[in-house]
Amino acid sequence: MYDIDKYVQAADVDDAVRALTADPKAVIISGGSDVLIKIREGKLAGCSLVSIHGIRELDGVKMEEDGTVVIGPCTVFSHITNNEIVRKHIPILGDAVDQAGGPQLRNIGTIGGNVCNGVTSADSASSLLTLNAVLKLCGPSGSRLVPLEEFYAGPGRTVREHDEVLTEIRITKDNYEGFGGHYIKYGKRQAMEIATLGCAVQVKLGEEKNTVEDLRLAYGVAAPTPIRCRRTEETVKGMPLTPKLADMLAEGALKEVMPRSSWRASREFRLQLVEELARRALAQAVCNAGGEIHA
Ligand SMILES: Cc1cc2nc3c(=O)[nH]c(=O)nc-3n(C[C@H](O)[C@H](O)[C@H](O)COP(=O)(O)OP(=O)(O)OC[C@H]3O[C@@H](n4cnc5c(N)ncnc54)[C@H](O)[C@@H]3O)c2cc1C
Repeated sequence: MYDIDKYVQAADVDDAVRALTADPKAVIISGGSDVLIKIREGKLAGCSLVSIHGIRELDGVKMEEDGTVVIGPCTVFSHITNNEIVRKHIPILGDAVDQAGGPQLRNIGTIGGNVCNGVTSADSASSLLTLNAVLKLCGPSGSRLVPLEEFYAGPGRTVREHDEVLTEIRITKDNYEGFGGHYIKYGKRQAMEIATLGCAVQVKLGEEKNTVEDLRLAYGVAAPTPIRCRRTEETVKGMPLTPKLADMLAEGALKEVMPRSSWRASREFRLQLVEELARRALAQAVCNAGGEIHA
């Protein structure tokens, strides 16, 4: 049995915001794969829930006229992976969320819940960071846009106010057009495993497909929150596609991450993964962008 004090099913976003404003202790529930576990473990025992499950405006993926991809936060992982817009324009994200949990989890866990739980191991986070995703949050006094990179406030914490609902995850065309990307999740086993480390690379190549025009590198579990390696990214722009590029990326990343030891892996092992996954994700991302790393 779950110890739940009150349950409100919101009819729409305004209704959800009203219910959250009226009850400062209420918690949003979407797919419930994090929230229900916390209730059962006692961390959220006796809480009030405001359900956004089933609100149509929060579900699905669409493209705006200017090419911006807009992802509804209540879209479950399996629908993201199979969505035509995602497959065509941002396949890195569909591949990343396809590595979360097992099939049941992917049919109930939502991308909004994955972002809003604020955890560093969230499988969507590093790919969304490399896509410069922007979040739309709606609260009692209107809406605001927050870049995902500024959303994380610490382990399991975000800048979202209690009475704000994430209503859109936005990715503009200039952040996906012409890029090739790849996400690697390292876990102790293939399925039903939280990432020991996750690494995403998005790369755009020059016209001749032999230099780096733009590159984004992001990690999960390499720091208390998902992170971008901005300084390293700057150092590799314009470089030719040689092994030196992979060396610069891997060595640069090591200077920007700050993983810790946990029961899953030591800090030293995670540092080794930071380096190795950068090289592997880069090689595949370059290939997906139409190039190849030459000796
Ligand atoms: C067996 C199991 C395996 C798992 N494996 C993985 C894995 O491999 N990789 C991974 O990344 N995660 C994994 N998870 C964690 C979890 O399933 C995901 O984080 C999932 O995306 C959460 O989505 P949800 O809709 O179920 O979230 P919920 O539990 O409904 O909510 C999660 C949090 O986000 C908030 N929230 C949800 N939607 C919104 C919104 N629109 N606006 C504001 N706040 C919101 C809730 O209040 C809550 O704090 C696993 C969980 C389980 C139970």
